[in-house]
Amino acid sequence: MAAVTVSSFIDGAEQRSTGRLMEVTDPASDRLVAKLAEADADEVDRAVTAARRCFETGTWRTSATDERQAALRRIARGIVDDADELARLETMTTGLPIAQTRFMMLRAAGVYEFFADFIGQYGEELYRQEKGFLTLVAREPKGVAALIAPWNAPILLSSIKVAGAISFGNSCVLKPSEQTPLSIGRLMRIIAAAGVPAGVVNMVNGSGAVTGAALVDHPDVDVISFTGGTETGRYISQAGARRLRPVATELGGKSATIVLADADLDRALDGALFSSFAHNGEACLAGSRVLVQDSIADQFITRFVERAEAIRVGNPMHPATEVGPVVTAAHRERVLSFIETARLEGGELLTGGRRDGAGCYVNPIVVRAKDNSATVCQEEIFGPFATLLTFHDLDEALAIANDSTFGLVSYVWSGSLEVSMRAMRDIRAGTTWINTPLLRDMHAGFGGFKNSGVGRESGWGSLEIFTEMKATIIGDGSNPIARIGIH
Ligand code: NDP
Repeated sequence: MAAVTVSSFIDGAEQRSTGRLMEVTDPASDRLVAKLAEADADEVDRAVTAARRCFETGTWRTSATDERQAALRRIARGIVDDADELARLETMTTGLPIAQTRFMMLRAAGVYEFFADFIGQYGEELYRQEKGFLTLVAREPKGVAALIAPWNAPILLSSIKVAGAISFGNSCVLKPSEQTPLSIGRLMRIIAAAGVPAGVVNMVNGSGAVTGAALVDHPDVDVISFTGGTETGRYISQAGARRLRPVATELGGKSATIVLADADLDRALDGALFSSFAHNGEACLAGSRVLVQDSIADQFITRFVERAEAIRVGNPMHPATEVGPVVTAAHRERVLSFIETARLEGGELLTGGRRDGAGCYVNPIVVRAKDNSATVCQEEIFGPFATLLTFHDLDEALAIANDSTFGLVSYVWSGSLEVSMRAMRDIRAGTTWINTPLLRDMHAGFGGFKNSGVGRESGWGSLEIFTEMKATIIGDGSNPIARIGIH
């Protein structure tokens, strides 16, 4: 296949960018699949200006709720109809197994449906505390939203931002990762075909350093929503602070999976493996710091390693593949480098590592760490890499789970209600799953404590991010007014 050139999408049309060309490769074969023309600061300015113009004219901002609901539902249908091709493009650039990208397309469609429902349900506020007055608190769209998304679930994570922003009447400019522009380009066409007016959703492609930085620093951006790494999040928060703009950040994690002896151990094993290795382990909500109670540790770890060795690693386009190649060769080397780091710090490699041949493949890695201070227990690796530790009792498990600069999610496997309630209360993370692997419900705000970010994406969470509260106070004419200036 000849490499296509992807460009930006501004004011309802693809733009032939003139910026430098960047290469997009297929991690399964190292083959060049596309060239991306990087949007420079001028092009970013055109995108923000289009979004601003659209916002000010009010075509979308002041449209009836049912018009926006209908458009959101048409986008959802467009994604479902195109799910096979979107999934293929996403697998081609990420290396994520096709069965998983296909599933994510259906989840992404569900996000537009969710926001279509949500904007028909939430209420605004009215107070009558003071006699003779009505106080109304309305939610107004913020304006132009800059949306920055990572490569590990391009359509799904971008959709949570785009749907969240536009459902409340904002316009937006999306910048996807430079590694995964193809499926997002197609999403732009689906959004346009759904009848969303030109200028509501714009997209600029390019590196974070050039295109992303120009976007977050643009003076006409009213709010920034970012999902990505913690260091980038810190930089973007500073850029927002310089212009006094709100910044919502969904950042990294190093989340614990706690397995207690009284758990259903077959399900706990399935769950621990899935939350470590699903999505190639390239998931912010991976529970790849697996803490096992010492009384069951030997048996559980043996079974965990056997199953990790049996995971089907291979061509991500094959429907039976369970782990595909990681996203780039550089990322593969980074993931593998943690094996040596673990060894130097007293850890033991139980299985996995380099896989010879073309493509960015890694055999699922399992390391037993000496203790939780090990780098492999503290740093986000973002690949098929599980770290095992043991603990004696629940207090120790909770202390280890919380001994992290991150606080995104956690998983607890136990048959005890008391344990579940302690975990729910005491784990310092935005989400805790009990006796189940990951599942995201858009009703629940998703985001983190500590270095895992600020803000929550969901119905109410996105309402907080993408709307301003506006108070209007109406007097009924009965209240006396102090008459100044009369002598
Ligand atoms: P990065 O932080 O490297 O990049 C995220 C996005 O930010 C990309 O689009 C990137 O562009 C862009 N970017 C980079 N630098 C800048 C900049 N200076 N200004 C503006 N934009 C910039 O993360 P990854 O793409 O590597 O994604 C992996 C990370 O995302 C992990 O840490 C993971 O935990 C986190 N993540 C968090 C989630 C959550 O909900 N909490 C969900 C999924 C992932 P480009 O790549 O084109 O350079």
